[in-house]
Amino acid sequence: MRRRRKVKILATLGPSSSDKAKIKALGDAGADVFRINMSHTDHRTLRRLVNTIRSVESEGLRPIGILADLQGPKLRIGTFAGSGIDIAPGDILVLDSDPAPGNRQRVHLPHPEILAAVQPGHRLLLDDGKVRLTVTESDENKVTALVEAGTHLSDRKGVSVPDTTLAFSALTGKDRSDLEAALDAGVDWIALSFVQRPEDLAEVKKIARGQAAVMAKIEKPQAVERLDAIIDQADALMVARGDLGVEMPLERVPGIQKQITRAARRAGKPVVVATQMLESMITAPVPTRAEVSDVSTAVFEAADAVMLSAESASGSFPVEAVETMDRIAVEVERDPNYPNIVYSQRTEPEPTTADAISAGARQIAETLNLAAICCFTSSGATAMRTARERPLTPVISMSPVMSTARRLSIVWGLHCVAGEEPDALEDMIDHACQVATAEDIAEPGQRIIVTAGLPMGTPGATNMLRIAFIGTGGGDSLKE
Ligand code: PEP
Repeated sequence: MRRRRKVKILATLGPSSSDKAKIKALGDAGADVFRINMSHTDHRTLRRLVNTIRSVESEGLRPIGILADLQGPKLRIGTFAGSGIDIAPGDILVLDSDPAPGNRQRVHLPHPEILAAVQPGHRLLLDDGKVRLTVTESDENKVTALVEAGTHLSDRKGVSVPDTTLAFSALTGKDRSDLEAALDAGVDWIALSFVQRPEDLAEVKKIARGQAAVMAKIEKPQAVERLDAIIDQADALMVARGDLGVEMPLERVPGIQKQITRAARRAGKPVVVATQMLESMITAPVPTRAEVSDVSTAVFEAADAVMLSAESASGSFPVEAVETMDRIAVEVERDPNYPNIVYSQRTEPEPTTADAISAGARQIAETLNLAAICCFTSSGATAMRTARERPLTPVISMSPVMSTARRLSIVWGLHCVAGEEPDALEDMIDHACQVATAEDIAEPGQRIIVTAGLPMGTPGATNMLRIAFIGTGGGDSLKE
């Protein structure tokens, strides 16, 4: 099915969307990639979901991407004797290594790495930032902190340490086992939570060994500070605004979203904008005006994808949420201001053959008003460089490798097709014309542009650009 928009939609699966009929309905409504959140999914469910998606995919004949999102090191305080404590600004609270139930003076902090790393002056944010503490004294057994804001604290609330770089990898024991299970199940993307440094990604990439691509979730100030080095290592980025909005002042999140989106676009790496995009649709069939505006901002920035979390995973209106996102995206991309806004962020091609050909293809396609750019890509690299150009002309990425086609389904503007790659150049041009016609993107009498690397099947060797005329039979007119 041809999408009427360039931006892609990621839908998280969960209790509201786990059977085949609902997953198919989400795909039909516009979901291009499904996210499986490993914070809430056991390995049996993971395998069942992957099989169900693949079964939907085989009936719909379009490659569907699957992203497994690893939980990462979720830090939490211990428990209290009773139902929690009331606190007030000015109180002193000690967080320590003693596992005994807490009281108004102290509570267990079962993370020696935090006790070892925090320094006086650092902030501790608890319960999604509702409770704010500042450390006044610290040693390896306890932290003494002043309550700056908050009224109540209960068992096992989350802890964020935005000012502290922790000496552990973003990959926990649970993540390692989830990662193995996700690779075994055959997912296309792995998202790594709470990335602090580029080395965190290197560790996952080493285990994934190319079986799945790796997405860095940017949700910590330490990752924002080292964004360029992280982009170098990552295959894609996610602006994970949930935890980012806890670790950083909320009012900084929109600016950081733009910074991350633009840096990813410059690098030609896919970027996903996530969290609370249509939050009110968890319980209501229509979004708020502010949510529509929020989705539009990401679409106008030409982010590769926008994501639904609880809206599609556990909400009452999962299909309506995808349909709403689809409608917003289609309308924004039709707006007369859209091309100029997208082009204002376009960056120069890098001095490589693939970039020169991608930039040339975009310019020729727009100058001659061609019906499509068809790029043959085995690793996916050429299609991603073409997408980096943000061409308004439809782009068909054709790959003989199914896993490449699935992976590319997250990328802005790519209509992904998996299938044979003819050996001879003339057959290839003919095939591109046939696919463009069959996919309802071009019709006889129109012209398309074809890019490829010759000899065929050499990854990263794009060196050919050709304009083809579609004959009356739907193939290359020279062959008919
Ligand atoms: C986020 O924090 O915005 C996010 C996407 O991650 P998670 O859903 O794992 O909290």
